[in-house]
Amino acid sequence: MSCAAANTRPPGEAEAYAGLEARACPPGLESCDGCTRCATRCVDHIDLSYPEFARLVAHLRSLPEAAVREVVGQDKRLFWEEIQVSELCPFLDRRTDLCLIYPARPLICRLFGHVAWLPCPRGMVPEGLPEAPALMREYAALERHPLREWLARTGLRLPGFSPA
Ligand code: SF4
Repeated sequence: MSCAAANTRPPGEAEAYAGLEARACPPGLESCDGCTRCATRCVDHIDLSYPEFARLVAHLRSLPEAAVREVVGQDKRLFWEEIQVSELCPFLDRRTDLCLIYPARPLICRLFGHVAWLPCPRGMVPEGLPEAPALMREYAALERHPLREWLARTGLRLPGFSPA
């Protein structure tokens, strides 16, 4: 991402994140058939590291602005009976239950189904990451914030997100 914020990041941050992502997604672990049954677990306010934020912004800017606005502007409230129980991720397309930013999704989304605390609802994806707790501890050591906080910190704007 070409912005001043990218020049002030700690050295090695991008490499550290890339290493974590490579360990989280080893070849052969993907067995998801894309059924989208896990979509209601795509909740808002996920913490992102800066490299994830920068990739997400670059990906969104590569998409048609109208398409981004359409998905981000959908009603993401999730109700149980008449009580709102959570808010879905702004990038979950409620018409299709697909992720708008799938190629740029954060680490936690890549881990879905592969770790005991985020199981595949159909048991389709094998839990294949015994080192996941260690990986999460390393991930937690990176500076992370929710998307809207990164937008406020960097002054960047995205379609569908109001300025802080
Ligand atoms: S970024 Fe995509 S995969 Fe991750 S929670 Fe949002 S919709 Fe789901």
